[in-house]
Amino acid sequence: MKKTFVAAAFTLGVTLQPALGQDMSAAQAHARLGVEAAEGQYLGYASLCDLEARIRNVNLPKQRKPANAKQGERRPTNGYRPKPAHIPATQVFDNLWFLGTASTTTWLYGTEEGYVLIDGLTTDAQAQKYVIEGMEATGLSPSAITAILVTHGHGDHYGGADYLAELLGVDILMSREDWDLVATLGMHPRFGPPPRTGGIVEDGDVLRAGSSEMILYLTPGHTPGTISPILKVSDGDSQHVAMLWGGTGFNFGPDVKIFQTYAASAQKMREIAKASGVDVFLSGHPRRDGTVKLLAQLPSRANEAAHPFVRGAGGYALFDVLEHCALAQAERFLAQSEE
Ligand SMILES: [Zn+2]
Repeated sequence: MKKTFVAAAFTLGVTLQPALGQDMSAAQAHARLGVEAAEGQYLGYASLCDLEARIRNVNLPKQRKPANAKQGERRPTNGYRPKPAHIPATQVFDNLWFLGTASTTTWLYGTEEGYVLIDGLTTDAQAQKYVIEGMEATGLSPSAITAILVTHGHGDHYGGADYLAELLGVDILMSREDWDLVATLGMHPRFGPPPRTGGIVEDGDVLRAGSSEMILYLTPGHTPGTISPILKVSDGDSQHVAMLWGGTGFNFGPDVKIFQTYAASAQKMREIAKASGVDVFLSGHPRRDGTVKLLAQLPSRANEAAHPFVRGAGGYALFDVLEHCALAQAERFLAQSEE
């Protein structure tokens, strides 16, 4: 075992030791590669390789009614109480703004000639504060939003989407698989009510926001129809290509097949990203990949200085973390099922 690897695992609190009696060598080998890849830029992802992590399943339909809520009634907190630190609306590229919290991102893609909002935050109140008031505070027009793309059917990303869709008179777009997922989730005690209606987007679809365009890719795993978009972004005269990994955590239960599907999606996206010239790697959760720190560097960036979000070739380690950690967990539960 390499020294750096042990040090990283220790620092990160990631458990790589198998429980007694299990042959977890295949799981450990993948976990080691995943943690090594996470060192440096992606420490926030390393916990995915924790071989003792409890793998819960948030994708199960829940029968239990949340406290103080009737079926179909929209509640201001949607039953989910993150503690977001305030991050002001921040322009990251000429056609990409961060409007999220420290827990969950909302990316505003495009310009005043048309925007697509990527994800709708967790609650109506957050959507109002971070999207509507965030845009107005920086002189942007919420009315220029033409659609809301929801990367996947979990309430921390769709909780405020209905509110915004109604307010702005636009559609919520999601994959067919995740429309099915939110329908089965129903009134979820943590996520609140699902978004009600909207459009379906498919693998390879192009979505335009004014003259900016993104291509949508299905990357099943985190949910059955997670969407990871690739976006062309500009920084003055420089052009870059960004990829947003649409769904991260392993919270779909200890299911070997889903972990293998997740790993296959990471492989697929690595190839697509390379072919597309991706050099900017974005997350739906800003603490996973250091987004909060990168945002803080933007205001003091000197003219002509390298853009902090452009990770270049080093950014591809993300796919190694995702793929190896998913395979590590697949091997872990395969070993347990063979006992
Ligand atoms: Zn999720």
